[in-house]
Amino acid sequence: MSKAVKICEFCGAENKASAKFCNECGKTLAVSGQPAKPSQTSSSKAAQAFGLEIVSLVASILGFTCLPFFGFIIALVTGFMSANPKENKYAKVGIIIGSLGLIVPVIVLGILGIFAGATANTDDLIWMLILGIIGLLAAGVSLFFFIRWLRKPAA
Ligand SMILES: [Zn+2]
Repeated sequence: MSKAVKICEFCGAENKASAKFCNECGKTLAVSGQPAKPSQTSSSKAAQAFGLEIVSLVASILGFTCLPFFGFIIALVTGFMSANPKENKYAKVGIIIGSLGLIVPVIVLGILGIFAGATANTDDLIWMLILGIIGLLAAGVSLFFFIRWLRKPAA
């Protein structure tokens, strides 16, 4: 939407886009009236992305308190949805806390499950051993992808 006119910021008169001085009041016209529009949209985009990064960071902290599990999930989703999750420290911290908040408990529960299943006297608790191994495998795979993402340079 580029109108081929320049509006004088002093008197409001319309001038040719190529004009350097206002033909009404003679004052100097701004160098270009155009860049205002694109920079406005990109800054509102940045504001939106910035909001997501803050949501990610806050949710990751809530994961430790009133939003266990879901806080970490929200932190991961919003962190990755933000504009540049690798470059932005809020999004990055949100994603790191969210990932570890999900992976570390699974590792702990997996180890406990393996111990409980392996040391149980009855066969009833064998499912804890199996769940523990599955949990550890899932956590290991998640950790692998998480570290790979961390080490991959930003696009
Ligand atoms: Zn003017």
